[in-house]
Amino acid sequence: MDVSFDTKVVHNSLKNTNSIHSKTTPIYQTTAFTFSSLEELEGFYQGKSPYLYSRTGNPNTDELGQAVAALEGAPAGVATSSGLSAILAGILSVAKAGDHVVAAEDLYGGTYHLLKEELKQFGIETTFVPFENSAQVKNAIQKNTTLLYTETVTNPFLRVENIGKLVEIAKEKSIITMVDNTFASPYLKQPYLEGVNLVVHSATKYLGGHSDVTAGVLVGHTDIVKKAREKVVNLGANLSPFEAWLACRGLKTLALRMERQALNAKELAHALNANPSVKKVYYPEYVSEKGNGAIVTIELGENCDISRFFSSLGWVKIVPTLAGVETTVSYPLGTSHRALPPELQDKIGINKQVVRISIGIESASDIIKQFEQAIQASL
Ligand SMILES: *Cc1c(COP(=O)(O)O)cnc(C)c1O
Repeated sequence: MDVSFDTKVVHNSLKNTNSIHSKTTPIYQTTAFTFSSLEELEGFYQGKSPYLYSRTGNPNTDELGQAVAALEGAPAGVATSSGLSAILAGILSVAKAGDHVVAAEDLYGGTYHLLKEELKQFGIETTFVPFENSAQVKNAIQKNTTLLYTETVTNPFLRVENIGKLVEIAKEKSIITMVDNTFASPYLKQPYLEGVNLVVHSATKYLGGHSDVTAGVLVGHTDIVKKAREKVVNLGANLSPFEAWLACRGLKTLALRMERQALNAKELAHALNANPSVKKVYYPEYVSEKGNGAIVTIELGENCDISRFFSSLGWVKIVPTLAGVETTVSYPLGTSHRALPPELQDKIGINKQVVRISIGIESASDIIKQFEQAIQASL
């Protein structure tokens, strides 16, 4: 039966594979799997049994990859040790030395560095352009371009990518598209269903949701994900069974969390908009009919002392990540965007008054009160 997203997300568990029918998936905390005969061992290589050694495959990591693929409407998925390793595996499955990538210039800092520095050393060149300007995207495409890379909702200014346009450009030129859907999560956006070839997540964020697991997931076309899985195995970027299990547990409440977090974010954005000490509020006008996400970025007025603001936030902690059930703040200039060249920081609007807020599941009025009080204290 075809069920809604909110139902699917709760029922992501693996089918029971043994005679003990536990309600939740057991943790296969094992480095390898046993065989009782050479025939059985040979069976693995013939595709009759799925598991041999946990780096090459494990039921818990497969559960995560398959669950996220199902939520994205994609046929295949692979879970990896981190969001960044999922990004690496995805890129390496479609680009090799001599190939060229066109990427959005307002990417997550770690991805920017991966493309600009690390992959460059291996002969994969990247041109960064503002993806809001499709003429510039088209102009940046070269004969050897194999990949267009962007994010559904960008960090920290929450620009919403025009996925339809991107897919159109890519199809015209027969180029693969890959999109980081971390900020929106499949609850809000399902880029694969819009024609994107590969969708990647830092499961460390909304998919896991409880700030207790670092993991990544890549989903998409079966043949590309198959290649990406080989990269994960060969580069040793596999996710451990317990981490995968935690991510799957977190995933079950994705719809509930996102619903509440997005509602809270909307109320906070509204309140901060009305605050005269806040120079700018960045909150997307439209991400999906289910909401606009749970991140609000603000630029405080020059009259606010930024250090005092950060130390007056009470129970809202300064944390260089996002998407947990607790409301937290981060300082892009000091953390996520620290490594960007100053010209690029300027160009995309990162300055010393910019604060990124990751909204949690607390009471909206408590969250608003805490921020209003910290702004007051910073004056
Ligand atoms: C955190 C993040 C990543 C990297 O994920 P890790 O799990 O830290 O490796 C990639 N993209 C976005 C948008 C992120 O927020």
